[in-house]
Amino acid sequence: MSANELRQPKRASAALFKKLGMDLVPDNEKVAAAIGHIDDFRLKVRSFVMAMETCVKCGACAEACHTYLGTRDPNNIPAGRVDLIRKVYKRYFTVQGQLFPGLVGAQDLDLETIEKWYSYFYQCSECRRCAHVCPFGIDTAEVTFIARQILYWLGIAPQLHTATADAILRTGNHMGLTKAGIIDTLEFLSEEIEEEYDGLKVDFPVDKPDSDILYVPSSADFMLNPRTLFGAGQFFKYVGANWTISSEITEAGNFGYLSDQTRIQREMVTRLLAEAKKYGCKKIVWGECGHGWRAAKMYVPTLADLVAVKQIPITHIHDEVEAYIKAGLLELDPKRNDSKITLHDPCNYARACGHADNMRTIMNAVVPKGAFVEMTPNREANFCCGGGSGILFDDPGMYQFRIEASNKKAEQVRETGAEILCAPCSICKAQLYPMVKEHKLPVEVFGLIDLVGHALVFRE
Ligand code: SF4
Ligand code: SF4
Repeated sequence: MSANELRQPKRASAALFKKLGMDLVPDNEKVAAAIGHIDDFRLKVRSFVMAMETCVKCGACAEACHTYLGTRDPNNIPAGRVDLIRKVYKRYFTVQGQLFPGLVGAQDLDLETIEKWYSYFYQCSECRRCAHVCPFGIDTAEVTFIARQILYWLGIAPQLHTATADAILRTGNHMGLTKAGIIDTLEFLSEEIEEEYDGLKVDFPVDKPDSDILYVPSSADFMLNPRTLFGAGQFFKYVGANWTISSEITEAGNFGYLSDQTRIQREMVTRLLAEAKKYGCKKIVWGECGHGWRAAKMYVPTLADLVAVKQIPITHIHDEVEAYIKAGLLELDPKRNDSKITLHDPCNYARACGHADNMRTIMNAVVPKGAFVEMTPNREANFCCGGGSGILFDDPGMYQFRIEASNKKAEQVRETGAEILCAPCSICKAQLYPMVKEHKLPVEVFGLIDLVGHALVFRE
């Protein structure tokens, strides 16, 4: 079996697609259906046409991509990845490709190529580092979005993404947590905070009417990153917020954004605004999840009723904390985070949402002077963790790929000599826990709001 054949995430079954109201496209209809979808995107999305028609193969993007650096597979060079679809585009939608396909590198679409799409567009973490260096601004992540959407419409998607989409529609979160489970976990966390922080009482209200703020945590925080929930609860307590979590949308992530932007993502947005209205919230505050925040910040306004979005603004918890720090309204004791700490810039925050400064304002306020050490490169030039866009697969070939794709990140972390790796994104954390283990890095992984909660000084 070739390395590429191994790099195929486990697929969602026909039964799972059926639960989502979709029938698989039969093999003998897949090629025509895919060409039809390319035609639709060609007519609607200018960035897609630009990516199809502009690349001059200068090669600048190759060394920018952590998946190419980790695997040295030419199809993981951003331009090579896009070529998998560009060759087909040329064949069907350019005059030269129709008349002289061999001369211009145009290629008929067949099932084998569709299989390659499935492999390589699920090896792209949609980190956009390639777009950052491309002289034409070709954004491979945009092409990956489109390729994954076409594959989804054909009935080809990873089990992980499809099962997660099913869970969110049924339960309002990716982990399939029930309201009873959410309340139980939050009560347990309250007790833990009370025990660890000298009797500090922090409540986590759920479905509380007449709240001012709807807080949207990542559901992974309930199981994997409880200190991120600690930090959010401590912050809201400190500032006296009238807040709630909704049991119907306990999810900052958005797997619709990663495979089916047209339906799943839209349903989440609609539910989010309905819940905020139900509890009378004046503001929605987003928890630590990079792709989910990008979806909320960049796509909610285009997917939802604009009037509703203007009535209920959406902010990020980092923006909230930063504003309080700048106003001098938080008493923080940096000595409580007295370790050498480095910061992983989640791609969706640093390259897509302009969070590089606010994360550093917070970091410098919650750790002692000199404790924070930057990775090289950082901010907008930072490397992806290797798990972005939900490619957190555990299938043997894909797990190995994830670890290879994190080689560059591991090297960056090791060079800092840090003891704590701060990664304020739920998917980054899920990738960095195994990265730390497999690369034997002597660091612990925390979120940024975790460090805020730990440094807050309560005086009652
Ligand atoms: S940097 Fe841009 S133009 Fe150059 S090979 Fe990559 S995608 Fe093509
Ligand atoms: S978006 Fe990131 S993972 Fe995808 S091709 Fe570009 S650099 Fe590579």
